[in-house]
Amino acid sequence: MSAIPTCSLVIPVFNEEEVLPELYRRVTQVMAAAETSYELVLIDDGSSDKTWEIMQRLRASDERVSLVRLSRNFGHQIALTAGLEHARGETVVVLDADLQDPPELIPRMLELWREGHDVVYGVRTRREGEGIFKRSTAAVFYRLIGRLTSVHIPADTGDFRLMSRPVVEALKRVRERNRFVRGLVAWVGFRQVGLPYERAHRAAGETKYPFSKMLRFAVDAIISFSILPLRLATGFGFLVSFFSFAYAAHAVYLKVVTGESLPGWASLMVGIAFLGGVQLLCLGIVGEYLGRIYDEVKARPLYLLQDFQSGPMAKEAARGAPADRTTAA
Ligand code: UDP
Ligand code: MG
Repeated sequence: MSAIPTCSLVIPVFNEEEVLPELYRRVTQVMAAAETSYELVLIDDGSSDKTWEIMQRLRASDERVSLVRLSRNFGHQIALTAGLEHARGETVVVLDADLQDPPELIPRMLELWREGHDVVYGVRTRREGEGIFKRSTAAVFYRLIGRLTSVHIPADTGDFRLMSRPVVEALKRVRERNRFVRGLVAWVGFRQVGLPYERAHRAAGETKYPFSKMLRFAVDAIISFSILPLRLATGFGFLVSFFSFAYAAHAVYLKVVTGESLPGWASLMVGIAFLGGVQLLCLGIVGEYLGRIYDEVKARPLYLLQDFQSGPMAKEAARGAPADRTTAA
C-alpha cells in the first residue's frame, strides 16, 4: 500500500457515463492546483451503462483512482457508505458525480480542516437548474426534519462535505440499514462548520433520484431520526376520541332535552369512515417502524462487493481474480 493520502474523494456513481470524464478532469485539475496528496474512490452503484468501463479506463491511467463496484444498485446512501469504508485518506470529501458540488471548494474545505474542524459541510445558497418542484419539496423537507428531530441537522446541506478520519471511523461504526448519512454525520458530533456555496447545474445526464426515490429518502430520514410520527398517532387517537365523546353528548342532549331524534345516517357513515381512516393511518405509521425493525433484525450486510481495485496497479496484474470479494459490512 502506498502512503496514506491527505484527502480521499468519495464519489458514488450510478449510470453517469456522460459526466465521468469531465468529473475526472475537473477534480484532477483542482487537486493538482491544491498540491495535496489524494485518492479518488469511485463507487459504481450497479450501473447498467458504460460507467464501469470508463472507471476502469481512468484507473488504468491513474493509480490514484480506486474502484469499488457493488453487486447491484444499492442506492446513493449505501454506495456512499461503501465509499467511506474503502477510503484511506486523512480526510474524506464526499461529492456527487454530476458536478453539482463544485470540486473547486475542496481546497477551502481542507483549509478549514487544517484550522481544526472535523466536518465541513456545504450549505447550498442557490440551486441552479433544479425545478420549482424539487426546490420546494427540498425546502419543506429540510424544515420538517429540523423540527422533528432532536439532532441538529443543518438545513440545505447535501452530502457534499469533508470529514476528518475520526468522524469517518465513527460513521463506520453506525451499521443501520435505512441510512440518512447527513443525519448520521450530524449525530456523531465533533467540530462542524458550514461552507456556503452555489449548487450548480448537473453537468450532463439526468437526475438519478426520481420522485419515488426522493420520497423513500425523506421517509427514511424522518423515521430513522424521530419517533414523533408514532406520537402523532397517539395525538390523533385522543383528538378523534374527544370528538366522538362530544358528539355522543350532543346526541344525548338532543334526545333528552329537545326530544328530536337524529336522522343520523350521514353522520354515522362519516364517523365510521373517519375512524377507519385514522386507524389505518396509525397502523401505517407503526408499520413503517416495524418494517425497519425487521430490516435491522435480519442484519444482512449493507452491500455486497463485486470488485475492488485499489493501490498500485501491479497487484492486479493477474486480473480476473478481483482483489476482494468479501462483504465489507
Ligand atoms: N446515485 C447513486 N445511486 C443511486 C442514485 C444516485 O450512486 O441509486 C449517485 C449519482 O450518480 C450521483 C449522486 O448519487 O453521483 C446524486 O444523484 P443525482 O445527481 O441524480 O441526484 P440529485 O442531484 O438530482 O438529487
Ligand atoms: Mg445531482
